[in-house]
Amino acid sequence: MAFGSSFLPNLADVRQEVLDAMLRQPISHRSDEFHTLFASIQTGLRGLFGTARPVYVATSSGTGMMEAAIRCAPHGRVLALVNGAFGERFARIALACDRQVVRHEVPRGQVPEPAAVAESLSRNTFAAVTMVHSETSTGALADVRGIAAACRRASVVTIVDSVSGIGGAPFQFDEWGVDCAVSASQKAIGLPPGLGFAVASAEFIRNAAKVKDRGVYLDLVSFDEHSQHDETPTTPAVSLIFGLEAEVREIEREGVAARWARHDAMRSRVESWSAQLLRDTGLDVGILARSGARSPTVTVLQLPPAISADALISGVAARGYLIGSGYGGLAAKSVRLGHMGDHTVEELADCISAIEVTLRAIVRAG
Ligand SMILES: *Cc1c(COP(=O)(O)O)cnc(C)c1O
Repeated sequence: MAFGSSFLPNLADVRQEVLDAMLRQPISHRSDEFHTLFASIQTGLRGLFGTARPVYVATSSGTGMMEAAIRCAPHGRVLALVNGAFGERFARIALACDRQVVRHEVPRGQVPEPAAVAESLSRNTFAAVTMVHSETSTGALADVRGIAAACRRASVVTIVDSVSGIGGAPFQFDEWGVDCAVSASQKAIGLPPGLGFAVASAEFIRNAAKVKDRGVYLDLVSFDEHSQHDETPTTPAVSLIFGLEAEVREIEREGVAARWARHDAMRSRVESWSAQLLRDTGLDVGILARSGARSPTVTVLQLPPAISADALISGVAARGYLIGSGYGGLAAKSVRLGHMGDHTVEELADCISAIEVTLRAIVRAG
């Protein structure tokens, strides 16, 4: 399918320029040419994370980076903030890495509140908090700044999964006092899957160096050392880094603030359509995430009883657009719309029109 037709929540539509940039002979990751390339993409990546720290680039999916963050975190109890499937994944990773985990559960569509997190932190001693910035399973956007501040007051490190946030949602790693944040290439950054990204504070890395069981492949201490020489610890997916270079040039051309504003305009476009549809037709296609805490990159639409998710997804596909199914238990009665990466509000509006035409056709067919 051509660029502009895929609105999946788990995979970006990739621009042709990025695909073209990947079609060349790879270069050695120990060459001067690679060092220059790596240094030249850092400025753009740092803008997306809001940091002056290096952005580590790994050949991994997002989950690998979540595991890297856990393995490098100080030992001790982990408070896992769970408001959806990815928060739950963070808890499971911490458990699998032999950490003691306490879950701070929040209803789906809601976000953890800083005061409630502070209260959970006061009930026990913790070393780290894990949280999800943009919960791709529900479309909720958490208050990373507020939670990082609560963690700082409790002397607990904050580890943030911003896999579907970074690139589309504002992030200020340094200003918010986050200790470690991870992301991946295939969501709001707009690349094919295969690259993982992480930023860690200098203090997090100093403490990580004392943690014994960090492993080798995703050891952030090693990424930190190598990034000082503009390289990666092991052979990276060089072709994807060529694609990343092309995307970083586009990010610099548009500007990070404008990229964030474009994503927010897409979130707002879905919201206003949902309200308009209800007024015009009485069809209640609601938004799962609570108002005021909605992700600029993904929206979960809750369908009225008369509409089956499968019928909607296949009807929209017949009109040329890909949208995603709801996550896990939400699959039968919801669909997910990914509005991330390089899509414009106009492209999204065309996809929304296809959704509305399909909804009306399903209702008519009764
Ligand atoms: C996609 C995603 C991940 C990681 O998925 P991978 O398949 O490992 O790249 C993690 N967290 C969130 C919030 C995501 O959207």
